[in-house]
Amino acid sequence: MPSLLNPPQGCRFAARCKYAMDVCTQAIPPLKEVAPGHRVACVL
Ligand code: SF4
Repeated sequence: MPSLLNPPQGCRFAARCKYAMDVCTQAIPPLKEVAPGHRVACVL
């Protein structure tokens, strides 16, 4: 698990995500609403 005091750039899950791509470490993905009241922050 990455440091919470000094988190890595980009998605906080990138080091543990089997779907991680280069873009995941470049910027935090924006939140998108996928269902009423349910938002996700993932490039997928
Ligand atoms: S943005 Fe999505 S695909 Fe990329 S590392 Fe994070 S959870 Fe995984």
